[in-house]
Amino acid sequence: MTTSFPPRIGGTERQRPALKYANPKGECSRIGCNNSLRRAPDGWYGRFCNPCSRLLLEHGDFNTTVPRLKDESIALLYQTTMDVVLDMVRKQDREIAGHAWSIQRCEEYAGRPGMGDPLLALRSDTWLYHHYIHHKLKTQEQAPLDVLLHLVGVVGVTQLGPQYFATPDQMDLFLVKRGLGHGLPSIRVSASGKPAPHGRWSMRRARLLARKLRGDWGLGPQSQGRVAEEVLRRVGRG
Ligand SMILES: [Zn+2]
Repeated sequence: MTTSFPPRIGGTERQRPALKYANPKGECSRIGCNNSLRRAPDGWYGRFCNPCSRLLLEHGDFNTTVPRLKDESIALLYQTTMDVVLDMVRKQDREIAGHAWSIQRCEEYAGRPGMGDPLLALRSDTWLYHHYIHHKLKTQEQAPLDVLLHLVGVVGVTQLGPQYFATPDQMDLFLVKRGLGHGLPSIRVSASGKPAPHGRWSMRRARLLARKLRGDWGLGPQSQGRVAEEVLRRVGRG
């Protein structure tokens, strides 16, 4: 079988179907779904049918969607985290020293040649991660402090409001979609010569970048306590 697509970087296209998940009829593993799995020459691809896989890939869950920053409870956590951290930055609080180092490193990476080139973004995990932050710092010309506050805010939502996420995958998708933005730009070029639109996040990359985001922008226990206190105060219960 031949496809019209050029090979993926690193030859990472799936070579063999995941037969271990398929039942003998090749049906989707989601309870209540009777769709068939995509047929491969000697078995079926994957565990779930295409529509069900799409849901998991987009939202990390069959029944709920990745929360938006504008959703009321999410917006409260996001804004409060940013406000508290901005206050800590102004007071040069030692607990956010790590975040200062992180944004400094991001700025240093953003100054390297080729950082904005999607063709090079997959060089390494570190390169991929900084490619997105380069986009904020250089292409969109956001101030480093604003980028820092946004990323700390997004990670803070997952730390302070885990109850708003249906699955760990949904939390990781929230971090990359709301924190970093669109999926990786496609390296394919359409027939008209224009670059193809941004691709979907792959779950593997979403998990990987989410881990980096948590490492760089996660709040320590004391800062989390401060944000939680402030949230209570704002909703009038503290
Ligand atoms: Zn299905």
